[in-house]
Amino acid sequence: MSTNPHRAIPSVTELLSLPEAENWLTRVPRAVLVDAIRAELESYRTVLSSGSSAETRPSLAEIATGIDQRIERFSRSPLPEVINGTGILLHTGLGRAPMAEKAVAAMAEAARNYAPLEINLETGQRGSRTSSVQTLLCKLTGAEAACVVNNNAAALVLTLAAVAQNRDVIVSRGELIEIGGGFRLPEIMQTSGARLVEVGTTNRTHVEDFRRAVNHDTGALLKVHPSNYDVAGFVESVATGHLVEIAKQESTQRADPLPVIYDIGSGALEDLAPHGIGAEPSARAAIEDGADLVLFSGDKLLGGPQAGIIVGRQLWIERLANYPLMRALRVDKLTLAGLEATLRLHLEEELAWKEVPVFALAKTPLSELTSRAEEIVGAVNGSLAHSLAEVAVSDAYLGGGSLPHKHLNSVAVRLHPDEISEQEFASRLRSGHPPIVPRLHQGNVLIDMRSVFPRQDKTLIQAIVNAIQIA
Ligand SMILES: *Cc1c(COP(=O)(O)O)cnc(C)c1O
Repeated sequence: MSTNPHRAIPSVTELLSLPEAENWLTRVPRAVLVDAIRAELESYRTVLSSGSSAETRPSLAEIATGIDQRIERFSRSPLPEVINGTGILLHTGLGRAPMAEKAVAAMAEAARNYAPLEINLETGQRGSRTSSVQTLLCKLTGAEAACVVNNNAAALVLTLAAVAQNRDVIVSRGELIEIGGGFRLPEIMQTSGARLVEVGTTNRTHVEDFRRAVNHDTGALLKVHPSNYDVAGFVESVATGHLVEIAKQESTQRADPLPVIYDIGSGALEDLAPHGIGAEPSARAAIEDGADLVLFSGDKLLGGPQAGIIVGRQLWIERLANYPLMRALRVDKLTLAGLEATLRLHLEEELAWKEVPVFALAKTPLSELTSRAEEIVGAVNGSLAHSLAEVAVSDAYLGGGSLPHKHLNSVAVRLHPDEISEQEFASRLRSGHPPIVPRLHQGNVLIDMRSVFPRQDKTLIQAIVNAIQIA
């Protein structure tokens, strides 16, 4: 029998008495250091108990280096800058929309100071925390009223609960979506206490399907933009205008009106098609078509902070604002500040296209992306013994559930290291400083330039060179 391999590992106390410990303790609290030591030792125990030979036993110096790295990680920014090389502009895994400088500044100021959230500064009386954001949202969408909650999923739960609890909500089978991250419409419906009534089929739902299903138990008609998939071919869905007609007719037969709710998902305020980025439903069009409540995210095409925005008729918005759940879903001063600053940019189209980062990235000319890619390729190849990088044609995407089939023309830096696999190289890029998240495509490591900010180009070059030079 061999001896117990764990004996090869020093104790926590032993490591705490190393000369390095003094330096570690100037960088992190003692409790953090002890955790780092334990975690480091644990990693060796796992290796040793898997039956490896004596050679894998770590030296003290090796262990100390490991501890040092763990401490270093603790001292870094909690959510450090990442270079997004995926070409997906609204990447949910990377925090969706990066925000405009003015929004960032507004959030920092609100965070640092006291803010007039519920005080009217003229009268000194209690005021509304959200009135200026509401005014802007009404102006930008043409709605009568607006309110803001934590995210669009929350907006949907609140709306269904406040408007249709214990009543039927009619939805087309073609719109029973799952967005990802646990957002599935039937479950949201259940959480809200509304009863789901499905009509039509996966590919075709007609006006008649809705008309037949409506009765005095109906609490709302719901339309959901199937944002992350595309049913093509023999398809039909019911337009907002038709739902509104049905609801109007039904409303004449009863005391309380029947609302039409439309979850448009991505939150384009206006039609973006003239700008060549496809046909997402716009909030303004949904309001014009007569929807009573229109729901969308703050951090998708709007380019603002995470938020759920609800615009629509005064009557219904008031009902939501006074519903007890509202208190649990409300946003903080940071979100309000960031959202208001972002909405102000949207008041002027030219300003929005220049300063809202998602818009600016989406419309960067291909020629500009190409010359930046060429410069990066030149610099990377120039600092290595062999040529590793080349410019390649690529497709970028809006993401965030927008237009899955619709790509944006793009250019990528393609990397083909010859001594390691693509997976290994991608992993090195992701663990660099700053991390680069590339796209793996048909055995290539691509860094799509459309989602990289020009200010990141220099850092990107260095990070690629570093990743290839790791021994
Ligand atoms: C993205 C999306 C949601 C979820 O929005 P969050 O802001 O992430 O909560 C809901 N509905 C649709 C149609 C969406 O596209």
